[in-house]
Amino acid sequence: MSKEKAKKVVIIGSGPAAYTAAIYAARADLFPVVFEGFYSGPAGGQLMTTTEVENYPGFPAGILGPELMDNFRKQAERFGTVFFTEDVKSISLGKHPFIIHGSKTEMEALSVIIATGATAKRLDIPGTLDGEFWQKGVTACAICDGAAPIFRNKDLYVIGGGDSAIEEAIFLTKFGSKVYIVHRRDQFRASRIMADRALAHPKIEVIWDHEIVKVEGDQVVRSATLQNVKTKQQRSVPAAGVFFAIGHEPNTGFLGSQVALHPNGYIKVVPGSTETNIEGVFAAGDVQDHVYRQAITAAGSGCMAALDAERWLSNKGLAN
Ligand SMILES: Cc1cc2nc3c(=O)[nH]c(=O)nc-3n(C[C@H](O)[C@H](O)[C@H](O)COP(=O)(O)OP(=O)(O)OC[C@H]3O[C@@H](n4cnc5c(N)ncnc54)[C@H](O)[C@@H]3O)c2cc1C
Repeated sequence: MSKEKAKKVVIIGSGPAAYTAAIYAARADLFPVVFEGFYSGPAGGQLMTTTEVENYPGFPAGILGPELMDNFRKQAERFGTVFFTEDVKSISLGKHPFIIHGSKTEMEALSVIIATGATAKRLDIPGTLDGEFWQKGVTACAICDGAAPIFRNKDLYVIGGGDSAIEEAIFLTKFGSKVYIVHRRDQFRASRIMADRALAHPKIEVIWDHEIVKVEGDQVVRSATLQNVKTKQQRSVPAAGVFFAIGHEPNTGFLGSQVALHPNGYIKVVPGSTETNIEGVFAAGDVQDHVYRQAITAAGSGCMAALDAERWLSNKGLAN
């Protein structure tokens, strides 16, 4: 285990929020260090698992997710950010300086920015896995991917039964010819108002008591096999898209119970800032945002976290 002296800003995570925080902190001469993860998820974050990103401003022709993240990282590196490609296993916030326990490195930190993101939940359905039809018609983000040409005027399937599944289904009605919500139960978990909206929508049909058990296709998804959870009867239906809408898991396990979380597991921040319940610890990106969850909002809050950290260090006389 290598031991490092106290750094002014340690950033944990590696998506748009972490890299943006690093760009701002580096340009403010705070010499940030980023623990960008290794086993915790691809360094670069969720966009490393996608293809075309068409809604990130500044790229009128779109840009591949991994290329966008590579650009973010290079920009942070250009101003002197130092990267540790390892996971943070735990963090001691009981006294100052804080201590970061990486898988190979231990480091003191005067301030910490947590930007470890969230992981979209998926099911192990044959055909939906990485290397199968994941990102070839199977996705976990309707807002991000719904407008892709492969989904236009085709039958689309949303898996889930909560508010976000219904929200995603309604969004997809702009593009698909018909949107089916496949739900294992015979009623929604969603709020009444959202459920009524789905049931009244002419382009949405709910398939109760069913699950998708297989997804097939050629270059892209072409069909899905539905199974009745009670009778086990199966049928194959034409499908161009399968959208998981079964929630996200914020990546906060390494924090223990030191940082205050919302009941749904997302980090609590003071509204309008990135301050957590612990002075000198800030949170940015999807790990503290269960509402917007987009690259641009993650990047925006990464910028806020760096500015909040800089201000906090200056007020404490720790910035120089
Ligand atoms: C398939 C897919 C497609 C998407 N497409 C779009 C799109 O087109 N446009 C858009 O705006 N948004 C899109 N999104 C959403 C977007 O990717 C997220 O909103 C954004 O990436 C969140 O950024 P973040 O900085 O919070 O962290 P994330 O991107 O979630 O990255 C966090 C990273 O931190 C690292 N990490 C986690 N735990 C630790 C630890 N303990 N120690 C060290 N490192 C750790 C991991 O590498 C993790 O991947 C998509 C998401 C998915 C899943």
